[in-house]
Amino acid sequence: MSYTVTNPADETFVAEVEHLDAAAADAAIAAAAQAQIEWARLAPADRARALRRFAAHVDSDIEHLAGLETANSGHPISQSRWEASHVRDVLEYYSASPERLIGQQIPVAGGLDVTFHEPLGVVGVITPWNFPMTIAAWGFAPALAAGNAVVLKPAEWTPLTSMRLGELALESGLPEGLFQVLPGRGSVVGERFVTSPAVRKVVFTGSTEVGKRIMAGCAEQVKRVTLELGGKSANIVFADADVERAAATAPYSVFDNAGQDCCARSRLLVQRSVYDRFMEGFERAVQAVKVGDPADEATEVGPLVTLAHRESVASFIDDSTPIAFRGSCPEGPGAWFAPTVVTPERGDRIATEEIFGPVVAVLPFEDEADAIRLANDTEYGLSGSIWTRDLGRGIRVSRAVEGGNLSVNSHSSVRYSTPFGGFKQSGLGRELGPDAPLHFTETKNVFFAAD
Ligand code: NAD
Repeated sequence: MSYTVTNPADETFVAEVEHLDAAAADAAIAAAAQAQIEWARLAPADRARALRRFAAHVDSDIEHLAGLETANSGHPISQSRWEASHVRDVLEYYSASPERLIGQQIPVAGGLDVTFHEPLGVVGVITPWNFPMTIAAWGFAPALAAGNAVVLKPAEWTPLTSMRLGELALESGLPEGLFQVLPGRGSVVGERFVTSPAVRKVVFTGSTEVGKRIMAGCAEQVKRVTLELGGKSANIVFADADVERAAATAPYSVFDNAGQDCCARSRLLVQRSVYDRFMEGFERAVQAVKVGDPADEATEVGPLVTLAHRESVASFIDDSTPIAFRGSCPEGPGAWFAPTVVTPERGDRIATEEIFGPVVAVLPFEDEADAIRLANDTEYGLSGSIWTRDLGRGIRVSRAVEGGNLSVNSHSSVRYSTPFGGFKQSGLGRELGPDAPLHFTETKNVFFAAD
């Protein structure tokens, strides 16, 4: 079995990728289990040095990785470059962890009580196609830092940069077997991560539907699991906000990466008293978004990832859809889809389901209570933005919105040094931030009797 990668911008051939079968996945998992034993025994400073060398190899390959991502996923080249450098940064950040996995000494009678953070063993990381490199790094970097081995299964559509990261790990001197990238089908290789007793934790990023199956599968062995799932996040614009700035920045909160972003603010809630003013500025901003050739340095938004995904996005729109306005996109070959702004009713499918494309639903609201109710009226809870000049309102609303990653007067979501993850059906557990390596360990308590 294999998968043919085509460039989503022009439908040209990029690569043929061989898929592993279950037996090959098992062999890789066994090799990882073996490599992990030595890795965990290394002095913490040596593990730290090895991760810094891996980061340096990624750094020297940024242009190559960026070119691969742009050809495979259609990401604008400036964005792909940022993604590759983010992998380097994540590795550098967690290279400080091996020497800082500090336990506790707890006062007890009759001896000495200490805790250790023991590595789990082999960790299976399953990634989606939308941000292949960065999401992989959020799993493998802290897992390796904590003394684990990692097997990584990239999404079928976008395996190329993950495969390159696997090569770079080896070139940098990481031990054979310690970090392996296993291209293959979710139902074959991904499924083995769930069922193999040698894999002690699964880190899954993808759809809520598949995430639920993975969680149920992991329950069989009480296997540790982190889930990063879907979203339908709200960008809330209050009348007291800098409405012009909110309107000018809103396109990038939902159309970046062609809307294929779990954190996309795909519901835009606007206080009714400034609705018309906001929409005027928003229309100007949407029409200014540069959608086009991802190889062009000036491009802000590229194509969707595949023609199949474009069909899925397009299925949300028909003749009855209330389209307010659209941006532009190239014609001809490629999975192009113009940024689209719709004004549905609150309960409509387009306003409630994750589309994972450049489509935003604008919904008016009356007051603060109504905005909070509407923002939380979803099974998801990943991210969101709140625009207001009222400090008290910023505090109240950010505490009331059920979401793991909120920003006030900006659209920031992800920093490697801060925790990331979802409320409700957007996920389980957290990635990134200073505590991430701890999520790849078991706490062991040992009492040493004094007599
Ligand atoms: P998906 O669920 O279809 O696939 C994700 C990964 O799971 C792929 O590698 C796939 O091969 C694998 N997989 C599929 N079936 C499997 C099975 N039975 N067992 C094990 N693995 C299996 O998701 P996708 O379409 O690649 O990605 C889009 C989704 O990911 C969206 O819902 C998006 O919101 C979500 N996402 C979430 C985050 C987050 O951090 N919360 C980040 C990015 C994407």
